[in-house]
Amino acid sequence: MQLENTIQEFKAYLERIIMYSQAMSILSFDSETIAPEGGLENRAKRAGFFELEIFNMAVSSTMKGFLEALEPHQNELDVHTKAMYRLAKKDYDEATKLPPELVKAYAELTEESASVWRKARTENNYKAFSPYLKRIIDMKKQVLTLRASEIPEGGQPYDIFLDDFEEGMTIKKYDDFFEKLKATVIPLIKKVAASKKKIDTSFANTKVDIATQRKISELLANHVGYDLNRGYIGEAMHPFCNGSHKTDIRITTHYYENDFMSSLYSVMHEIGHAIYEQNVGDDIADTTLGDGASSGIHESQSRLYENVIGRNLAFWEYIIDELKSLLPKEFASVTPQMFYEAANESKPSLIRVEADELTYSLHVIIRYEIEKMIFSGEVDVDDLPAIWNQKYQEYLGITPPDDADGVMQDVHWSEGLFGYFPTYALGSAYAAQMLHYMNKEFNIDELILKGEFSKITAWLTDKIHKHGSIYTPNQLIEQAFGEQLNGEYYAKYLEDKFSKLYQL
Ligand code: ZN
Repeated sequence: MQLENTIQEFKAYLERIIMYSQAMSILSFDSETIAPEGGLENRAKRAGFFELEIFNMAVSSTMKGFLEALEPHQNELDVHTKAMYRLAKKDYDEATKLPPELVKAYAELTEESASVWRKARTENNYKAFSPYLKRIIDMKKQVLTLRASEIPEGGQPYDIFLDDFEEGMTIKKYDDFFEKLKATVIPLIKKVAASKKKIDTSFANTKVDIATQRKISELLANHVGYDLNRGYIGEAMHPFCNGSHKTDIRITTHYYENDFMSSLYSVMHEIGHAIYEQNVGDDIADTTLGDGASSGIHESQSRLYENVIGRNLAFWEYIIDELKSLLPKEFASVTPQMFYEAANESKPSLIRVEADELTYSLHVIIRYEIEKMIFSGEVDVDDLPAIWNQKYQEYLGITPPDDADGVMQDVHWSEGLFGYFPTYALGSAYAAQMLHYMNKEFNIDELILKGEFSKITAWLTDKIHKHGSIYTPNQLIEQAFGEQLNGEYYAKYLEDKFSKLYQL
């Protein structure tokens, strides 16, 4: 009876945290979309207040009491309560292991360095940024020392950061995954570059006014199954998905008049994230389990909708008539094959966020390999630009002309985010693995051609969406497919797709 009471109180306590987080989430959507410039100071103050409230609740003596009371009973807990306990304990341990002075100093440093990075990038001045990067890395190394007990057996300190963003992932697993991927992708890129096949992308720059592009976004949502009764498509500088509760999952996009495909694929990407969160089980929607399992699994859903579905010939065959009814003059002579080819043109480029599906993973691999070197002490911050450029030359056959479009292009390191990049590649690999198993049960191209997206979503909901964050990524994948992450499907998917497209 006493345990029952503790569980009820624990859940009620977590629900209060969830309410604050949901409010925070809406505030953050507001500030990134329509909030007036003049309110910046008050918004920052308000966000700080809620953030501190949530943090204090997660590390309070009340929370400590719950965790201690539940610890000896872990095996008696039902699946949901056990998962809530696991997540709360992880947060608690992480937040209480570090001295408050270090947390504060780190928050101040990353706040400052993010703005230093912005300026340094604009001015192409790595020397202005590198002292900050050095301090961030030093502090990150201190954190790793304090968390040394979390290093997996036979592992290294950097493993801790990898696990932070994708529970269960290690250097060993990523090395294995990336080495195999490189063995397929690097030669494939060379073959594509040498191919005689030329892709016409000129019509992709046809001017499409923003009002029409908004209609295209809605059309995509309605066809693919993003429920706008529980969703909203806003506009922001950088597209994102903002989920507070399964009944209110919003996305944003950015429209460019002369590049309608940019927003089209951003929308498909964010729709993938949104459909995931709209379909978590009703039984966990109000709990701490009501969002995605991990960054990698979340990214698998966005990549699946963006690439597997959206960059598929069947998709263009299905959607073309409606697109032409919106733009009869502009696209009168454009065929589905032309759209398909333009959406998949592949060539080595310098900027990760603009990379095509084939070359994308190499951008991630380069960052991963450099991060590994940083935390094993093999490299000095001053040498990073040279190492970066050398890896771009080796893997992609191009050298950045400057550091702004080289080592300084991403915001992540300036915010202290190490161990995050590899999850971007995981997303694509999980998506290809899902595609493999989906195709065993039905032919996905046929469903897309007929517009039967609801069957695809239902399958994904059953395997992935409805479980929210009950399971770790490994458990979730293993439970759904009877095996853990297997990068071979991704390598084969790329090989098949690009060999066909470039007639190799
Ligand atoms: Zn994403």
